[in-house]
Amino acid sequence: MENNEWDVIIVGGGAAGLSAALMLGRALRRVLVLDGGSPRNRFASHMHGVLGNEGADPLEFLSRGRQEVAGYGVEVRTAVVKRVVETATGLEVETDDGGRLAARRLIAASGVRDDLPEIPGLAQRWGRDVLHCPYCHGWEVRGKRLAVLATSPMGIHQAQLIRQWSDDLVFFTALAGPVDSAISAQLAARNVISDPRPVTELVVNDDVLTGVRVEGGEVVDVEAVFTAAALIPQDGYLSALELEREDSVFGSFLKVDPTGCTSHPRIWAVGNITAPAANVPISIGAGAMAGGMINADLVTEDFTLAAAAAAASPVPTSAAAEEKKAS
Ligand SMILES: Cc1cc2nc3c(=O)[nH]c(=O)nc-3n(C[C@H](O)[C@H](O)[C@H](O)COP(=O)(O)OP(=O)(O)OC[C@H]3O[C@@H](n4cnc5c(N)ncnc54)[C@H](O)[C@@H]3O)c2cc1C
Repeated sequence: MENNEWDVIIVGGGAAGLSAALMLGRALRRVLVLDGGSPRNRFASHMHGVLGNEGADPLEFLSRGRQEVAGYGVEVRTAVVKRVVETATGLEVETDDGGRLAARRLIAASGVRDDLPEIPGLAQRWGRDVLHCPYCHGWEVRGKRLAVLATSPMGIHQAQLIRQWSDDLVFFTALAGPVDSAISAQLAARNVISDPRPVTELVVNDDVLTGVRVEGGEVVDVEAVFTAAALIPQDGYLSALELEREDSVFGSFLKVDPTGCTSHPRIWAVGNITAPAANVPISIGAGAMAGGMINADLVTEDFTLAAAAAAASPVPTSAAAEEKKAS
């Protein structure tokens, strides 16, 4: 019969989840990774800022990660987790195919979803020439004619940041709200052109972004657009547990301690699900930290349980054993 009891179940097999799995597999733990198969950066063909993996294909990188964890006995299954509930001895994890699995600890590493502004053409170019993070893709478009398309007042900071990569920058402010005149003056002082006209569509020729159309019909030439999506944490399966949350400029996210432990002592959260600004290396680091801490936590529990079991049924001393034999 299949053994559905695991030391640790990890929800999400992206950078954070697989990194935690690596630590736990190497600690001889029984680990199951349940993964929906949609890592956030799947839209990009190359990954940057990841030491030792510069320019790697994100999906190929994760496929190598899966092979590495499998080498230590970690099982990775394609499945979507629907619900996690508490039981007397641990946690029960329910998957979309109706499966029910038991775990002593759980790591939520299911990332975020990027909800992009609904501008025709934008979503189709996401991760190609519509970008969000200059550390991930700024070098590749350095010096080009760039646009920042604000989606909130935070767009001002994005425009200031992107100026580091190009001095040919137009800032579409329509969705940023009113921009303070002092800020506008600062942007202008560094040749950032502010354009208040709403962007109505992206213009693509031969599968290459060439410009954005603005209200009124004019096309402004640009080679790449930076924008910000709304970041939606994929944590609905934990809702019954009412874990503590924390508000930030990115929204409401699970609150964790420096090791990734949530307000529930059996549940950790790592990667974008709790740290929306984390990139791949930061997510790997968080996964490694949580993996190590959970193993230490289980080591303590193993000794506590063993001592309790020993106290409940003491091993007979040799004198008592002799007495038993003689009678
Ligand atoms: C377009 C784009 C390009 C990027 N480029 C870079 C880059 O070049 N360099 C860099 O460092 N960072 C880059 N990033 C950021 C990077 O994608 C994230 O930092 C990283 O993916 C976070 O890892 P994670 O493990 O937390 O989440 P993810 O990688 O998103 O993995 C989460 C996994 O959990 C699964 N999942 C979700 N819900 C469930 C559920 N209920 N049950 C089971 N599984 C579930 C998902 O299917 C997914 O496979 C980029 C992001 C984007 C959007």
